[in-house]
Amino acid sequence: GGLDEAPGGVGAGAGPSTGEHARAGGAPGGEAQEVLHRVFGYDAFRGSQQEIVEHVIGGGDAVVLMPTGGGKSLCYQIPSLVRPGTGVVVSPLIALMQDQVDALRAVGVRAGFLNSTQDLEERRLVEAEFLAGELDLLYLAPERLRVEQTLGLLDRGKISLFAIDEAHCVAQWGHDFRPDYLALSMLHERWPEVPRIALTATATEATHTEITSRLRMEQARHFVASFDRPNIQYRIAAKSEPKKQLLELLRTEHAGDAGIVYCLSRASVEKTAQFLVQNGIDAVPYHAGLDAQVRARHQSRFLREDGLVVVATIAFGMGIDKPDVRFVAHLDLPKSVEGYYQETGRAGRDGLPSTAWLAYGLQDVVQQRKMIDGSEGDEAHRRRLAAHLDAMLALCETVECRRVRLLAYFGQESTPCGNCDTCLAPPQSWDGTVPAQKLLSTVVRLQRERGQKFGTGQIVDILMGRKTAKVIQFDHDALSVFGIGADLREADWRGVVRQLLAQRLLAVEGDYGTLVLTEASGEVLRGGRQVLMRREPEKPARAARAKAAKGKRAPVDLPAEAMPVFEALRAWRGQTAKEQGVPAYVIFH
Ligand code: ADP
Ligand code: MG
Ligand code: ZN
Repeated sequence: GGLDEAPGGVGAGAGPSTGEHARAGGAPGGEAQEVLHRVFGYDAFRGSQQEIVEHVIGGGDAVVLMPTGGGKSLCYQIPSLVRPGTGVVVSPLIALMQDQVDALRAVGVRAGFLNSTQDLEERRLVEAEFLAGELDLLYLAPERLRVEQTLGLLDRGKISLFAIDEAHCVAQWGHDFRPDYLALSMLHERWPEVPRIALTATATEATHTEITSRLRMEQARHFVASFDRPNIQYRIAAKSEPKKQLLELLRTEHAGDAGIVYCLSRASVEKTAQFLVQNGIDAVPYHAGLDAQVRARHQSRFLREDGLVVVATIAFGMGIDKPDVRFVAHLDLPKSVEGYYQETGRAGRDGLPSTAWLAYGLQDVVQQRKMIDGSEGDEAHRRRLAAHLDAMLALCETVECRRVRLLAYFGQESTPCGNCDTCLAPPQSWDGTVPAQKLLSTVVRLQRERGQKFGTGQIVDILMGRKTAKVIQFDHDALSVFGIGADLREADWRGVVRQLLAQRLLAVEGDYGTLVLTEASGEVLRGGRQVLMRREPEKPARAARAKAAKGKRAPVDLPAEAMPVFEALRAWRGQTAKEQGVPAYVIFH
């Protein structure tokens, strides 16, 4: 099913044909330019579009890596118009096919689609158009190509090229693997003469390599655009009261702006949208649990109106093309850097300053590790999910420029950008080895002496020497580690737990999120490994272009973890482990 279930439009009211005209002679370059102006109404190609278009018109295969909003569609649409035959576009975005086809028909391109949302009659109509040579572009859901009937159909028509959009879906390593994509390797065997172009916005080196080999595109030319989106300011804030932090961001920097707020669950989408509305922000929810009509209404309001905020699960946004999205906010940690980059890439397609803001805290790490442990699929699958999460956590905990880290993840080198939170308010790293040892020792003690595992709450209570009901019940105050962490505050300890989890020096287990050691923990306990941690800057970075009415600012909610923390730790810096008295509670010798 799709977002827009209403069928129709495909067979009806085809626009004026451009095919004949576009295929008139002339140099391929000139023809491509001509189609760009006349059909699409654009002045010039962007970036490497022209090179790609000419390469494919000339019959070459191409692998195109270009960020979201870069203009990938034209790279196959124009060659489809210039080359004789129909361009067959494989896309997983079934929900958007109707819209894409409608938009193409509106400018006179003869386009159609085949997917599971159509009834037999509609499908027949499109098939007839294709066989009669009356289609410039045919969009196909990947599962159509597993049906021999579709393959037979394609055999009987004339194909100008195959475009494989969202090509990262073929990569098992990637964050959006779709088994149907694996079958696409047969395109080359069945139609060796037909050029193929694979396109994606999410291309780490691993994904890039996998696309090339799985789609048998060894002969292709590779076009790798810069993945930098310089107008987007990346910020990752310590999460304390996420909804209030979000409201503060919207009021001070994005009053009246259109934006997307991503939440993990449908429930939090609803709650957040409600909260924003109660606080005077024009916001609507969007998730797969909503009625299709409601979703369609909210989506089209977002596209048409100026300042609407959509609070959504990641079901929202793929393929949506709105140029003036001023901010993308994440209230929960994305599962991968690739997903995060794709989602934040929906901001600022018009090139104007925009914000990508993410709130991130301990609970995110606990929750996601738990989700991975409980996920279906084999061990290899879980390992992949864990590796994606690790990369995302490394981005959150970095003291380097966010953009440098992001681009490095996509295999591209860069220098500090001067326009991300870490560049604007550099965090410091501090030696958290001793607190790490205290915490890990407590975990070990509890397990050895109590034969039980405990969650963050009780472990922090023990470290801080709090005689809570639970502590007394389990006799925890009798432990030698009781109170050894009284010099730090609760928020500090939660920061320590979060960073240990992020660095895999600690792990969570089971439904109650109990803390357990990892293989790497021992090295820290033995004093053989230093643990560097990120200290939040005292003042989180804020965009210079803040434009809220002065005096109307909401009170600043400084996140607990961003407050001037770790005062007590200053004393430790510069001291050796021995001076710090480590051996007293380090239990591995
Ligand atoms: P992608 O698939 O890479 O995310 P799209 O193909 O959807 O990007 O294009 C994003 C937006 O950029 C669209 O609104 C498109 O019309 C516009 N666009 C693409 N190429 C050009 C160009 N050469 N000149 C002006 N606008 C362009
Ligand atoms: Mg696209
Ligand atoms: Zn930076």
